[in-house]
Amino acid sequence: MERIEKYRSKGLKLTPQRLAILEYLDGNTSHPTAEDIYRAVKKKHPTISFATVYNTLQALLEMGEVMELTIDPERKHFDPNTTPHHHIVCTRCGKIGDVFVDYSSALELPPEVTEEFTPISNHIDFYGVCKKCNKTKRRTK
Ligand code: ZN
Ligand code: MN
Repeated sequence: MERIEKYRSKGLKLTPQRLAILEYLDGNTSHPTAEDIYRAVKKKHPTISFATVYNTLQALLEMGEVMELTIDPERKHFDPNTTPHHHIVCTRCGKIGDVFVDYSSALELPPEVTEEFTPISNHIDFYGVCKKCNKTKRRTK
């Protein structure tokens, strides 16, 4: 993990528990919630607290090393892939997928907007039904 040195150089104290969080996040494409991370890391580090997970995530956010996704109104999800991309969420199971398409040219803002705002970034949330959920018929009461 080349990132480790980067975290260290930015002053992130690397305890074994924090390292376990970083290892879990490294290359993770599942867009976990803080609770998901807590549950996964707890298996190897039973004494870890939720606060440690939360605080580590906050530190990584400040360092720009994770992205916070608001696609799910219920809870925040985290993405260690900080290269610009968009997301699609399954409206049945909540699975979040990556959309690596650059829509920048299609998202040019009209002059009446750019007069007031200088755009910095954009993010599109797509909604759909995943393959697995598409196969299972919805239970009808
Ligand atoms: Zn689904
Ligand atoms: Mn993503």
